[in-house]
Amino acid sequence: MRVGIPRSLLYYKYLPFWKTFLTGLGLEVETSPLTNKKILSAGVKVAENELCVPVKAFYGHCMSLRDRGVDALFVPRVVSVEERAYTCPKFLGLPDMIGAVADNLSLPPLLTPKLNQREKPSEFKWQLINFAREQFGLGLLDAVAALESAKVAQRRYEESLVAGRRPLDLLPASKLNRARWRAPVKGRPKRIGLLGHPYNIYDGYITQNLIARLEETGVELIVPEMTDHHVLMEAATDVPKQLYWSYEKEIMGAINHWTGNRLVDGVIYVLAFACGPDSLIQVLIEHRARQHRVPLMSLTVDEHSGEAGLVTRIEAFIDMLTRKSAISAA
Ligand code: SF4
Repeated sequence: MRVGIPRSLLYYKYLPFWKTFLTGLGLEVETSPLTNKKILSAGVKVAENELCVPVKAFYGHCMSLRDRGVDALFVPRVVSVEERAYTCPKFLGLPDMIGAVADNLSLPPLLTPKLNQREKPSEFKWQLINFAREQFGLGLLDAVAALESAKVAQRRYEESLVAGRRPLDLLPASKLNRARWRAPVKGRPKRIGLLGHPYNIYDGYITQNLIARLEETGVELIVPEMTDHHVLMEAATDVPKQLYWSYEKEIMGAINHWTGNRLVDGVIYVLAFACGPDSLIQVLIEHRARQHRVPLMSLTVDEHSGEAGLVTRIEAFIDMLTRKSAISAA
């Protein structure tokens, strides 16, 4: 049986885990191609207009996998990934949203394990073991073995990210979002913290090759994945009111960690138009940057984002950072 994993949303966070787990269940795994015009346009046509662009892209990736003839689509319902916190409501409802259009679009059947660690982290293990047993008839020992191998693959992936590798270096190859050259820089390169959900910042089509554009200016990039998860979670507590969403906590933890330890000269925050959780933490992020006198640029992306405007804004931001350090040095 060939199972398709759409290359959008939590793909960038958990592909090593999902791929190893599903392979351990005896399935063949296929991922959709990089987001491109055809995939995004197809998603935009069928998704509700008010959804954020990565979810619209997700629809397009499902259709792309359908066209590749997979037997099933993997669309987990990720409710919670830690105690007393939730993910974005879109992740909770994703199987329903895709399921609602599945017949019309002739999508293959969906595999939708429910993952909810809100009450007890150990439930995650049993949710996956039961999924393996009920859906594929695996014995307990085989299901546990698949789960343990998946955990090892994910741990290795996360360790590599903390060591400075990027998801783009470790996941199936991407031609997009890679710098083709680097501008020569005098002195220490500017260090920019690139903030945002992995499915936004690493999707070269959605963000118009943002990472490559930035690196071509000669800046040094820091991303949240380069910091240990526990450090991010600890740093995220330094806010007036505890956050409710796990992935937004990571983003908040990153800016708190970077600014508190003077690790960055500036921060670029990428957020999707119509994203509820991001628009709420945006206020906290702006406050934090102001408090620590770190320049911040927010970039809102949607399906209409254009490359020309992006390049102009990046250049203006880097110029401003260069002028700021020249003034401080004078
Ligand atoms: S967190 Fe925002 S960008 Fe991410 S899926 Fe939810 S609404 Fe979309």
